Amino acid sequence: MAGPWDAVLRDEAALRQAAVVAVDAALLEGVLMRTDAEPNASEVVSYAPFTLLPSAVPRALFEQAYAVQRDFNLLVDAISRDKEFLERTLASTIKVDDFTARLFKIHQQVLEEGLAQSVFLGINRSDYMFDCGAGSLPALKQIEINTIAASFGGLASRTAAVHGRVLRVLGKPEEAARLLPNDPARGLAMGIAKAWELYGSPSAVVMFLVEEAQRNIFDQRCVENELWDRNIRVIRRRFRDVYEQGSLDGSRRLYNWEARLLLERSRAVKCPDIATQLAGTKKVQQELSCPGTLEKLLPGHAEAVKRIRATFAGLYSLDVGEEGDQIAATAIASPERFVLKPQREGGGNNLYGEELRQVLERIKDSPERTSYILMDKIEPQPAVNYLLRARSPLKASKCISELGIFGVYVRQGTELVLNEAAGHLLRTKAVEHADGGVAAGVAVLDTPYLV
Ligand code: ADP
Ligand code: MG
Repeated sequence: MAGPWDAVLRDEAALRQAAVVAVDAALLEGVLMRTDAEPNASEVVSYAPFTLLPSAVPRALFEQAYAVQRDFNLLVDAISRDKEFLERTLASTIKVDDFTARLFKIHQQVLEEGLAQSVFLGINRSDYMFDCGAGSLPALKQIEINTIAASFGGLASRTAAVHGRVLRVLGKPEEAARLLPNDPARGLAMGIAKAWELYGSPSAVVMFLVEEAQRNIFDQRCVENELWDRNIRVIRRRFRDVYEQGSLDGSRRLYNWEARLLLERSRAVKCPDIATQLAGTKKVQQELSCPGTLEKLLPGHAEAVKRIRATFAGLYSLDVGEEGDQIAATAIASPERFVLKPQREGGGNNLYGEELRQVLERIKDSPERTSYILMDKIEPQPAVNYLLRARSPLKASKCISELGIFGVYVRQGTELVLNEAAGHLLRTKAVEHADGGVAAGVAVLDTPYLV
């Protein structure tokens, strides 16, 4: 397939020059990250890795992804409110997966006690690849929906300007002008501001719960600044700070869980609340693909159900039983067709190919297999690009891209008062990496160029 940059890619000298401009543009625009060596100081920072060229994205699939985002917001919200669904869907998983079990326990505890807040804020990011495996035309297939750690809305707001500069330097001003505006930082802040307003106290603050190592602080600052501009105060706290300023006891091993419980029991508007976090598990994703599940969760929304289902790839339960036995045997025989996923977030946990086969072979007769799901492997068409990373030599790579659409919604009681698509994120990585995002150092930021 001919790409939009075929001619440009033949002129290596021009690309080298453009790469120098690109890095400076990234620094100027604020596409920044702290360094690995100093994740908690901003004295010396670098640019977040990004592609030299924007990547071609089929316009129809891009529009399809936007069009289904509000449906997905509705769906996540419906799942988070459906105690029985979560209980039934996660029953087998929590028997063998300690992490999910702990989340679930908090969920049950707060429900028993009664929820302290009736305002709910959801920020999610639905991720897709363009599958070329089955037919001649690429199809939009969902990788997963993130209801927690839906990052890079801030830096994505600044990446298109960098790619616009690069295209102009490379003699492509018309193409530069066609890059879409994108401002998820603003869209996400709008949702947070709405929740803040409904909380109903002018002295309320928005707390960003942050990790110990804060390399990605500039991404978060983009959203923070949008809130400050609306005169909403923002504070940043680590789990440890929450725990220490609370009054709960617990062993060290437990303290993160204690902090999570403490937050969950508070009157704060949580994002995500524990039920919404559970709604984002891989097991729930797999259950959604079963016949009838979407219809039950979204009664009266036949069109939304159709749009959502069109994005699903094949997903399979490994629950104990005949169906699970069968799919496990199929995956062991043809591991290259599947991805094996545990109940974790953040990249680097999935299993592919020979490793998938070995792990499945080992756990196929044990209940442990229930802690995983199987998914059809999506096969995007690779394209050549240059991945710009500090201290990496400039070289052409065969790359694949993953498109994320941000969604934001606010519910007060039973009424959805806001439901929007809030912008997009394109991440690209070299084909040799099966797994991993930008934070894991594998994927880099990109801008879609619609074709
Ligand atoms: P995580 O919660 O770790 O982000 P994901 O489901 O997003 O888990 O998977 C991580 C990465 O693995 C994705 O960004 C994508 O690159 C790759 N991946 C996941 N599922 C598939 C799939 N079905 N086909 C091809 N690649 C996949
Ligand atoms: Mg992911």
